[in-house]
Amino acid sequence: MKTRIFRVTFSIFVLTSLWAAEGYAQLSVSLDKRAEHLLSKMTLEEKVGQMTQVTLKAVSNTQEGSGSVHTLDDAKLKHALVKYHTGSILNVWDAAFQLEHWQQIITRIQDVATQETRLGIPIIYGIDAVHGHHFLRNATVFPHNLAIAATWDLKHAEISNQVTALEAKACGLTWNFSPVLDVARNPLWSRFFETFGEDPYLVTEMGRAAILGLQGHGVDSGSDIIAATAKHFIGYSAPLTGKDRTPAWIPERMLREYFLPPFKAAFDAGVKTVMVNSGEINGVPVHSSHALLTDLLRDELGFTGVVLTDWEDVLKLHSVHRVAASEKDAVKMAVLAGIDMSMTPYTFTFHDHLVELVREGEISEDRINESVRRILKLKFDLGLFDNPYPDTKLAARIGQPSFHKASLEAAQDAMTLLKNDKDLLPLSKQANVLLTGPGAASLPPLHGGWSYTWQGTDESFYPKDTRNLLQAMRGELGENQVTYLPGASYSELIDIDAVVAATKKVDVVVVAIAEKPAVEQPGIIENLDLPAAQIKLVQALQLTGKPIVLVLLENRPRIIRTIEKDSQSILMAYHPGMFGADAIVDVLFGDVNPSGKLPFTYPRYTGSLEHYDYKGSESQTSAYAWTAYNPQWPFGHGLSFTTFQYSNLKLDKSEMYPDDLLKVSVTLTNTGTRSGKESVQLYVSDLFASVTPSVKKLRRFTKIVLQPGESKTVEFELHKEDLSFIGRDNKPVLEPGEFELRVGQLTSRFVVKAASLGFKELF
Ligand code: BGC
Repeated sequence: MKTRIFRVTFSIFVLTSLWAAEGYAQLSVSLDKRAEHLLSKMTLEEKVGQMTQVTLKAVSNTQEGSGSVHTLDDAKLKHALVKYHTGSILNVWDAAFQLEHWQQIITRIQDVATQETRLGIPIIYGIDAVHGHHFLRNATVFPHNLAIAATWDLKHAEISNQVTALEAKACGLTWNFSPVLDVARNPLWSRFFETFGEDPYLVTEMGRAAILGLQGHGVDSGSDIIAATAKHFIGYSAPLTGKDRTPAWIPERMLREYFLPPFKAAFDAGVKTVMVNSGEINGVPVHSSHALLTDLLRDELGFTGVVLTDWEDVLKLHSVHRVAASEKDAVKMAVLAGIDMSMTPYTFTFHDHLVELVREGEISEDRINESVRRILKLKFDLGLFDNPYPDTKLAARIGQPSFHKASLEAAQDAMTLLKNDKDLLPLSKQANVLLTGPGAASLPPLHGGWSYTWQGTDESFYPKDTRNLLQAMRGELGENQVTYLPGASYSELIDIDAVVAATKKVDVVVVAIAEKPAVEQPGIIENLDLPAAQIKLVQALQLTGKPIVLVLLENRPRIIRTIEKDSQSILMAYHPGMFGADAIVDVLFGDVNPSGKLPFTYPRYTGSLEHYDYKGSESQTSAYAWTAYNPQWPFGHGLSFTTFQYSNLKLDKSEMYPDDLLKVSVTLTNTGTRSGKESVQLYVSDLFASVTPSVKKLRRFTKIVLQPGESKTVEFELHKEDLSFIGRDNKPVLEPGEFELRVGQLTSRFVVKAASLGFKELF
């Protein structure tokens, strides 16, 4: 209520500005009408300005480098906002800002936009806040998406994004370039950790929850919500070679089967914006594809929000992809394909070319109006015309204890125990431990890329009170019980003899394996093998005969086959965020019973990158045997300190017509001695189909808590969409026949009968 009063008061204040007494200033008028009214006042240059987004560097003083003090350059700011009518700014300087700095720069930017331009249109400021608002120095930083997916608990996706929205909004940021909805089908890809994993259904569900967290449920758009971005539309995560922003070959059928579902669900959930894939699919850069950006995105999927390009990608149609003979052609191509706003991000050539193209009749002003209408509507929708400034009331809530608790709980629920021979874990708190490895005394591998800086590797920007694994372990056991030696950097051994010698006086060795955090092109690797130095470190330690625990802090699954066998326990920790070290220690020493499950298939060999939903032909060996699918650990795998038993799998019918609902129930019992959480996973297999069926597909999941001896019955409902696939004609189809349903080790079969009308007509 208070917010409302503030807004109304503020809008009365705004009424005295340039567009006083105009219809679009009134809150009671619909977004469409307000946008339309404002649009009718705008010159072509002003419209094209709204379609331009520049980076903060374009309006800042130029001296750059770690630690340099950021200042806005007023002349550049006015050049962008007043001369070029720029509608949006993005990003941070070289590293995370303090809250006061965010508030100052956003206030100045909005002052210029609303008071020094003819129409006073506020700026929409966009940021990557992909695991918390990690470009704010005292923000609550959460585990990365891959870890959130490993919780198999949608509340973590939603709550972490609610917190993110609030902390970003407190800074005056209203647009988040998140969530990543790319389905990670290639583990070599450098952005694997930014995804919710390899399965379209898990990504879809997690993505929807993240969007609701950022944007709210739409009932009452509160003051703490911001616009989400479904990115990167579409097919970005499957480059043929695994290298970021290189060609993908994705036939339409596969695009629809594997990559489209999360985006479709995001549109149904009302995501306000979309960011385009920087890469090319089948030889066509997505930024130039009318088929994808208009025919599919708008006409078929009905997306009505704003489509933003990725970084410099309009110009790259000319300079990198070479499908446009000039920059101007590139602009024409991208706008006609369907983009609304160009992340230019340094120059104004997009603006100049686009104005010329309209003046020359190459692009109609109606086409420009379509985009500007959407952008203005978004700004009205976000309340920017009512109050474009940072919300100081929210600022007091940044980093509050309940937010920290949410981050810690997400990290705890993500911890995935991959192996635990002879119940080595949990370790006794009396144990003497040798802690070693590149992840042991370092914050970046706990956080991953996009942490305080783009690549996340500069520890000087991390909050001083964030604990690394060594500090957290010593905090739990005391200084003397934990011996620390680095053993190896990411890629070099460090005094291995000393590490081996140190094993003599300890009971157990914990090796924190780590991959250097990296994002986008800097994260490109040549193969999936873990760097040799880390393998050698573990092998040398294994020769000592001491029990070994591996903790994995990786950007993607790195091959550890050669050290897996002689390591008794292996804990996948992903990038668990600012309380990640505490969560790891909680699991190692038994304060938390691990419940994470892999959201991807952990490969055993660099050359065998099958997914859990592989096809029949992928299980053949060269001897035509049927055992080839042999990952290190399967999708959905994760151990607990207790044991669970599934029983009583029941289907309410054994035969159904496509329109029927299938009800499934299963009972789960905690047969061990500790309380534990279990992700109940329901898979369906279509046994025979006109397109080769996957061996199984995840169709439902839920996470439940059980006390020792306790049983619970879980119920699921399946619809025809859950049994369908994309057919040979690229359309969804449900074919009659036999299906198998699997929960835990239990299976049951049912038959779908042909409906009286052709089943293809059902969709
Ligand atoms: C990335 C996007 C990001 C954008 C803005 C690009 O390089 O691909 O995911 O949102 O930069 O920082």
